[in-house]
Amino acid sequence: MHELGIMTDVLDTALRVAEQNGGKKVTKITLKIGLMSGVIPEYVQSFFDVISKGTAAEGADIIIEPDPAVFVCRKCGEKTVYNALGPEYVCGSCGSQALRMLSGCGFQIVSVGII
Ligand SMILES: [Zn+2]
Repeated sequence: MHELGIMTDVLDTALRVAEQNGGKKVTKITLKIGLMSGVIPEYVQSFFDVISKGTAAEGADIIIEPDPAVFVCRKCGEKTVYNALGPEYVCGSCGSQALRMLSGCGFQIVSVGII
C-alpha cells in the first residue's frame, strides 16, 4: 500500500495547485518515478482514480516519466544505468557489485495541468 500514501499526497498537492491558480479541474498530473522508489507505475493511475473520486481531480490523467537508476562503481568509478529492476546490479564496465546509487529512488510531481 506504498502507492496509496504517495498518491494521497499527489492528490492533495494537485488540488492545492488548482485552488491557488483558480483552476476548476485538474486534467493531468505528470510524475517522475524512480526505478528504485518502490512505486509500481502500473498501479498509480488506478489508485489515483479511486482516491480522486468526487474531487476536482477526478478523471485526471497520470503521466509517468520513468527515472532510471544510476549507479557509480566504487572500484572503477564508471556509471551504469539500469532501466529495469534486476535480480542484481553490477558495474557495466568491470562487473563489480560494489555500487553506489546516484539517482533513481526519488519520486516527484513534475507538473499539474489545470483548466
Ligand atoms: Zn566498475
